[in-house]
Amino acid sequence: MRESKIEGIPYLGQRTDEVTIYAGPCSVESAEQFDEVAQCIKGLGLKWIRGGAFKPRTNPHSFQGLGEEALKIMKAAGEKYGLLTLTEVMDSAHCQMVSDYVDGLQVGARNFQNFSLLKKIGEVTANTHQMVLYKRGFAGTIAEWMAATDYITDKGNTNVVLCERGIRTFETATRFTLDIAAVPVIHKQSLYPVCIDVSHPAGQRDLVPALALAAVAAGADSIMIEVHPNPPAALSDGPQQLTPAQFEQLVVELRVVAAALGKKIV
Ligand code: PEP
Ligand code: MN
Repeated sequence: MRESKIEGIPYLGQRTDEVTIYAGPCSVESAEQFDEVAQCIKGLGLKWIRGGAFKPRTNPHSFQGLGEEALKIMKAAGEKYGLLTLTEVMDSAHCQMVSDYVDGLQVGARNFQNFSLLKKIGEVTANTHQMVLYKRGFAGTIAEWMAATDYITDKGNTNVVLCERGIRTFETATRFTLDIAAVPVIHKQSLYPVCIDVSHPAGQRDLVPALALAAVAAGADSIMIEVHPNPPAALSDGPQQLTPAQFEQLVVELRVVAAALGKKIV
């Protein structure tokens, strides 16, 4: 375990009074699709856009992502709109390539305990200090999550964001059960920023606003929200993605809650 300089807080990390939104489509599907979302995000004065290039699909016959082509689309849109880009890396062999195209690397829930991937990401970002957004696994405890974070940080990149995205419980009314308590629990133990992905636990778009407002109120440092220009036509996660108009409305509401806490949405 790496030592934090703050007494009583064992892990490293850094938090601010900003609440960062990582919005964007589940999958990058085309330059036009991604550009439309980027334009919306830029118009709202936000900093980051997310998008899936390599998709961890349950079924091998489902859309797997555009791969490197998606990374090129992301890089071009990031440069055009002045946005930072975030995408998932699923394979150790892709870490360097992904790191070369985007600003932030995501570890998906299905790779929560893929220790060789975590190590490789730590190596590849050791000098760049790119943000690594590390998602909790479906059945991972917070203690396991905190411990494994050291695989990423051991080579010197402590720019890690821990992302709660819902866990498996007996409940079936939502896609996953959002463990909002992860925010104060991790804040008590570390300086790592905590992100709440509100789209994957919701599974349905009408639940997304309530979860997002609750996440900001609970003190989350960032929120992940999937946004697609035409969700019914999405190649993955259509039912949970917001339209740009729905997302814009939600950001207005999130800004009110953040302001009440003296925080700024970026
Ligand atoms: C995603 O962010 O698109 C994703 C696949 O998330 P998760 O790993 O949380 O399922
Ligand atoms: Mn998704």
